[in-house]
Amino acid sequence: MSSDHLPETGRTAADLRFELARLRNADLPVRGGQVTAYVYDTGRDAVHDLAAGAYLEMLEVNCLDPTAFPSVVTLERQVVAAVADRLGGGTGIFTSGGTESIMLAVKAARDARPVGERPQIVLPVTAHPAFHKAAHYLGMEVATVPVDAGFRAVPSAVRAAITPRTVLVVASAPSYPHGVLDPVEDIAAIAASAGVLCHVDACVGGWVLPWLRDAGRDVPPFDLSVPGVTSLSCDLHKYGYAPKGASVVLFADESLRRHAYFASAGWPGYTVINATVQSSKGAGPLAAAWATLNAVGAEGYRDLAVRAMTAAERLIAGVADIPGLRVLGEPAVPLVAVASDDPALGVFVLADEARARGWFFQPQLSYQGIPANLHFTLTGVSDVEALLAALADAAKAARAAGPPDVPPGLTEAVAALDLDDLDDAGFAGLLDAVGDVGSGLAVVNTVLDALPLATREKLLVRYLSALYAG
Ligand SMILES: *Cc1c(COP(=O)(O)O)cnc(C)c1O
Repeated sequence: MSSDHLPETGRTAADLRFELARLRNADLPVRGGQVTAYVYDTGRDAVHDLAAGAYLEMLEVNCLDPTAFPSVVTLERQVVAAVADRLGGGTGIFTSGGTESIMLAVKAARDARPVGERPQIVLPVTAHPAFHKAAHYLGMEVATVPVDAGFRAVPSAVRAAITPRTVLVVASAPSYPHGVLDPVEDIAAIAASAGVLCHVDACVGGWVLPWLRDAGRDVPPFDLSVPGVTSLSCDLHKYGYAPKGASVVLFADESLRRHAYFASAGWPGYTVINATVQSSKGAGPLAAAWATLNAVGAEGYRDLAVRAMTAAERLIAGVADIPGLRVLGEPAVPLVAVASDDPALGVFVLADEARARGWFFQPQLSYQGIPANLHFTLTGVSDVEALLAALADAAKAARAAGPPDVPPGLTEAVAALDLDDLDDAGFAGLLDAVGDVGSGLAVVNTVLDALPLATREKLLVRYLSALYAG
């Protein structure tokens, strides 16, 4: 191990800042709306600056001990109450993100309804992988159920999947891939009649749907006010426009919330009592979310939601005019999935062409008959005319470029690989042989798309490991 990773004497602030700025040059921009995934821009710099200031203010406060830092209790109560007010009430926990909110909801269900060995959760296939992750971490099993042609969960399939080991049933409001709202009322009623809990995953939709309804749009009931719904997740670092590290999980009652908590007196150290997976954690994300919510306000969120949804509707109409492309399903929120009907126009090549033009469109692989597509998250700042022009231009270029240049036999060779025989360096060498990933991901995505799900997962793990090995 070389010893030059930590300087013997500290580097200057100017030097370090310069290096950070240089590193960030390779990143996608986080503002401006040309990256149609991952980032949420209000278009109001003052709001983001305020959030950054609040984050810094609370940077070194530790949420581990709320008796030592009572500010975190006050801020969390206010944030959770603001979210509960708009989403059917209940009581909640501020978490680091959708995955942690879901982890806690699944843990609460497991511990509130002990069923012995291998408790089970029932998920539509469109539900977020965070549920698979929670089940994996918590020693539980997942039963997936199919969706209909419009990507909506099928209530009768949910009912049929419930067994005596089922503790939780999930509906998405909406699911991320196509922005489609599941029939929450039907699924919650089925869960209630079976005596199991029901979680509504409103991670991406929870801070858009109430504002769209306020603004007069037709939004079916989906939150904790629906009989049978017992928990709900809502990410503030998505359409709440707060910096990352901000989500709320709501529970119908306090006793269910207590099942999400963890306490340990099993050591000779300080008392451990945690509401979340993390124990020591900075209060920055909480303070920033609190500041963002209060700076934007209800009027601001209504305006942002309507603007994003109007942009999504314009995108949907515009896609109809681009030969070969079509929108999948009917999104209830500003998420749009665009597939190609034309074998000569590959969506992964389209994504690379768009990237070369300064745009990021998020690729989604095919899944059980659902075609590969590109996902667009529209926000308050989306310039949809520019987006449509880029999409049309990239589609034309993708058609001219033709299918991606997958070396003959590569997919078969990858499928037959014994990954256990390959270390990270060997895997990295293989990636190099596929081509320079920096010049585009079309080949990688095309190969992944052709492989079985289990092989995809193994390759993704190897990819990540090789990436961090460098
Ligand atoms: C984003 C998302 C999640 C996971 O949230 P993270 O904040 O990325 O952990 C879960 N469910 C849905 C529907 C989402 O959109």
